[in-house]
Amino acid sequence: MIYRTDYHIHTTFSDGKADPEDYVDAALKAGINEIGFSEHLSLVKDRPDWCMEPSQIMTYINKIASLKERTSDIKIRTGLEVDYIPGAEKETELFLRDMDLDYRIGSVHYLDQKTVDMNPGFYKGKDIDLLYKGYFETVMTAVSSGLFDIIGHCDLIRIFGHKPSFSPEYLYRELAVCLKDNDIVFELNTNGRNKPLGDFYPDRQYLRLFSEAGVPVCVNSDAHLPDRVGQYFDEAYTLLKKSGFNEMAVFSSRKRDIIPF
Ligand SMILES: [Zn+2]
Ligand SMILES: [Zn+2]
Repeated sequence: MIYRTDYHIHTTFSDGKADPEDYVDAALKAGINEIGFSEHLSLVKDRPDWCMEPSQIMTYINKIASLKERTSDIKIRTGLEVDYIPGAEKETELFLRDMDLDYRIGSVHYLDQKTVDMNPGFYKGKDIDLLYKGYFETVMTAVSSGLFDIIGHCDLIRIFGHKPSFSPEYLYRELAVCLKDNDIVFELNTNGRNKPLGDFYPDRQYLRLFSEAGVPVCVNSDAHLPDRVGQYFDEAYTLLKKSGFNEMAVFSSRKRDIIPF
C-alpha cells in the first residue's frame, strides 16, 4: 500500500462544508495515513467570504492541535492555504512568522485583484494568452517569494477549460525549473476533476517536465466536503508513476522529508 497524505483540506473555518472531525473520519475510511488542514487565509484589504477571519487563526491552530492529541490512528497536520498577494510579501511573512504550522501552501487565486476561479465571467472578453502568461508569472513570483512550502494548483487558470492559442509547454518548463531552484513542492490537485475543467492540476501532459526537473510532489484533494478526502488518489498516484515520479514530500513543523511510493 502506498503511504497516503492529503494536505489540502477546507473545513467550516474557511469555505469547507464540515467540521475537522468529519474529515478525519472520512480520511480514515479513505485509507489516508496523514491528513492536513489548510484553511484559506487572505491578507487582501476586503477579505473575501471564502477565507478564514485572520483573528480566528489561533482558534483554528488550537482546534487542530487538540484533534492531534485525541487521535492516534491517523497523523494530523496543520497548514494554511495562503493567498499570494504580489507586493504583500513582508506583511504575509510577518503574519505567518511565529505560527506553529506543519506547512504553508501558497496559492494564486487573483489576477489584477479579481479571482480567477469563482466566476467564468472573469474570462469574458479577455485575452486568454495574456491570462495564461500572467498567471504563470505570478505563480513563479510566489515560488520565489520564499513564503511557501507547497504551491497550490499551479495552473488554476485552466479551471473553466480555457486554452491558450500557443503551446504553454515552455511555461510549465520554466515553472518546473523555478520550483526546483527554490526547492518548493508542487501538488497534484485532484479537485480540478470536480470543476468544468474535468481534470487534475497541473495538466497531466506536462507532469513529466516536473519529474525530469526533480521537483518534489504531493497529492492533495483540496476537499471542501468530507466525501472528497483522498478523491481520485488511485488514479493520481498511477499517473505520477507513469510520469516518472517514485517519491513524495511529507511535512512536519515545516520540515520536509521525502518518502518513496
Ligand atoms: Zn485554492
Ligand atoms: Zn484549497
